Amino acid sequence: MRTAAGKRVRCKVDTSRRVRIPAALCRELNIHPGDTMLVRQHGITIEMRKAETSCILCGSETDLLTVGEDPICQACYNKIRNSAGKSAR
Ligand SMILES: [Zn+2]
Repeated sequence: MRTAAGKRVRCKVDTSRRVRIPAALCRELNIHPGDTMLVRQHGITIEMRKAETSCILCGSETDLLTVGEDPICQACYNKIRNSAGKSAR
């Protein structure tokens, strides 16, 4: 089984509509049982990725806010907000 990015892997849908992600792909993408996945439809394609559980900018795991689909921490939010305010002047 090849799991390098862009390669297709066949996965069966079980009777509960669950899809088993190949172990090699889970290892490659650091996906573990219990992780939350983000699933999105693009026409007939389903995109799936691991939901981030830490700030996507600094990696902090505290004071998280969700912006769109991804979390950022309050400190990074404040930095962005302050720099946006300065450039608008
Ligand atoms: Zn942050």
